Amino acid sequence: MGEDKRDPSDEGREEPFFKPLEFNFSKWSIGGKLIFISTLIAILSLLLPWIGGDAEAEMGFLQGASVFLALYIYPFFILAQDKRMNRAIGVLSSILAIVLPMTFLYYMSRELRQPMSDIISYGLIIFILAGILLIIGVLRYVPYDRERGTLRKEETPKRGKPCPDCDNPMEYEEEWERWFCEECDEYK
Ligand SMILES: [Zn+2]
Repeated sequence: MGEDKRDPSDEGREEPFFKPLEFNFSKWSIGGKLIFISTLIAILSLLLPWIGGDAEAEMGFLQGASVFLALYIYPFFILAQDKRMNRAIGVLSSILAIVLPMTFLYYMSRELRQPMSDIISYGLIIFILAGILLIIGVLRYVPYDRERGTLRKEETPKRGKPCPDCDNPMEYEEEWERWFCEECDEYK
């Protein structure tokens, strides 16, 4: 009465929607590490002043800057769950993590009637730099496979699935998460 053990092949392996959060820093891809580091930097930036000039130079989170941290939630949770990232959502979040603080700066400069260069303070600059790291991290992120203890890309070369129309082996394009058939010259 042995257990029915199947080959752990990636095809058809169902992923639970929500996995426990785990922090396997040393196992993560360079992209994963960058996401983690940029999130920490972004959080720390809130302890520094964001807007200076004639305004009271208070810590960023007292100046309402913590809302921008919401843009880190998606990449950070994908990382902490070792899941596949939807590149479009990840890139959009990280671009907004740069653009929205700049919009905030612009708004504050009109509010205070001072040029942006006079009122920008360390916290805001550091948050924007963290956003740049976040974009790089999102683009280079490769999920860690907890069951196998390796990065997924190395372990599962995604090729060879036959095309449903012409039976030619297709290539898996990691970036777009879609299969491509060279014979048909189209995505499947
Ligand atoms: Zn085909």
